Amino acid sequence: MELKITCIPGDGIGPEIITEAKKVLDAVAKKYGHTMNYTDILMGGASIDVHGVPLTDEAIETARNADAVLMGSIGGNTTTSPWYKLPPNLRPEAGLLAIRKALNLFANLRPAVLYEELAGACPLKEEISAAGFDMMMMRELTGGLYFGERKTFEENGVMKAVDTLTYDENEIRRIAIKGFDIAMKRKKKVTSVDKANVLDSSRLWRKIVEEVAKDYPEVTLEHMLVDNCAMQLVKDPAQFDVILTENMFGDILSDEASMVTGSIGMLASASLNDSKFGLYEPSHGSAPDIAGKDIANPIATILSAAMMLRYSFDLDQEADDIEAAVKRVLQDGYRTVDIMSEGCTQVGCKQMGDLLAERI
Ligand code: NAD
Repeated sequence: MELKITCIPGDGIGPEIITEAKKVLDAVAKKYGHTMNYTDILMGGASIDVHGVPLTDEAIETARNADAVLMGSIGGNTTTSPWYKLPPNLRPEAGLLAIRKALNLFANLRPAVLYEELAGACPLKEEISAAGFDMMMMRELTGGLYFGERKTFEENGVMKAVDTLTYDENEIRRIAIKGFDIAMKRKKKVTSVDKANVLDSSRLWRKIVEEVAKDYPEVTLEHMLVDNCAMQLVKDPAQFDVILTENMFGDILSDEASMVTGSIGMLASASLNDSKFGLYEPSHGSAPDIAGKDIANPIATILSAAMMLRYSFDLDQEADDIEAAVKRVLQDGYRTVDIMSEGCTQVGCKQMGDLLAERI
């Protein structure tokens, strides 16, 4: 199979971690006889330095013509970098918002996995972390409170502010379909999170999710109120498979779910549109403090590449191989500095890429 992938190395540690992700993808391609066709584009600070803007129309077109986009990370030190003296619409992060909008990426996926070997980094009590967990947070990314009408005004001498939370049934249906599709590739359970005891938008959310569920008889659907979900994530995270939720609830819950894993260098993510197309990137930033030192952990990016194979190309076996290689490397005691613990062997970014490629 020929895979047309646009890569965005970006800034900071971005180019280092993308190089390692390509190394692992190339090992997969060799094993299974695929052809990886990469085209790099500039985004963020790297694009500002060359073109004066964080993302050009040509770069968007290149991304649009690919089957998927694999990104490192963008941005610099927000206090010292000259990029942050520019107006907000010309700063590195504006490139990310622009590409998400241009490619209509409405579904955000963030897996939170606790690896047995890294259980020590989990901030939860041992009796909870011992069970491990492997969940997928699915957040609606382009609707809801963050995109509704807002205003601040004065009424009878009192300042007032209004934000509007709106969803239509189509926005809910398309993300629900994604959530159930993804559950079919996992443990076949969807927990839909809302606040249906209070909010009309949540009652519509629940109704549409139930309609979509009828097309997925193999998937178990449960509803959970958002406040309860926040508690359950720290009390019993092993109960979750896919958590499906709207934009603001997902914003908060996905950070909570990430933090219970305890290891920022291990967290992958994806943003998808309604075709198979997606943008895959680690959850962490560009880590300018460690850029160019060959100490960054490339695993979050490599696991994002595995998600790309699974969700954009339906190459489940290949994705399984990458995930298994990560587990084996951890079992064999290799760690980058961010996840280092006593008795393990510390390796750099490049060596971690080599070790993973060898295990494919
Ligand atoms: P960060 O995630 O870059 O770094 C936070 C801390 O975690 C740092 O100490 C860093 O060294 C460490 N870290 C992060 N990733 C690591 C890895 N793979 N291996 C080892 N250590 C790692 O967050 P920040 O410092 O707040 O942001 C730096 C820049 O990244 C900012 O410009 C920010 O806007 C940008 N950012 C970009 C994205 C993105 O591209 N999607 C996301 C978040 C932040």
